[in-house]
Amino acid sequence: MTEGFAASVTTDICPQCGSPVALTDIRCLVCGMTMAGQSGRSGPFSRRTWWFTLIGFAGVYLGTLAIVAITR
Ligand SMILES: [Zn+2]
Repeated sequence: MTEGFAASVTTDICPQCGSPVALTDIRCLVCGMTMAGQSGRSGPFSRRTWWFTLIGFAGVYLGTLAIVAITR
């Protein structure tokens, strides 16, 4: 019971290698697996990041359309 208690308080389990990872660590110290998105950490693809990416692609698309329209 004690090891389960300790694991639930201060550490997470790396999904890649199964090593305990501190909740404050962004990466696993053993294998380097990123822990983003695990146990309440902010993920690499948050909703805001998704919208910025979408707007960026839309901007490139519209820019390309404008260049084509100008050069024709
Ligand atoms: Zn690991």
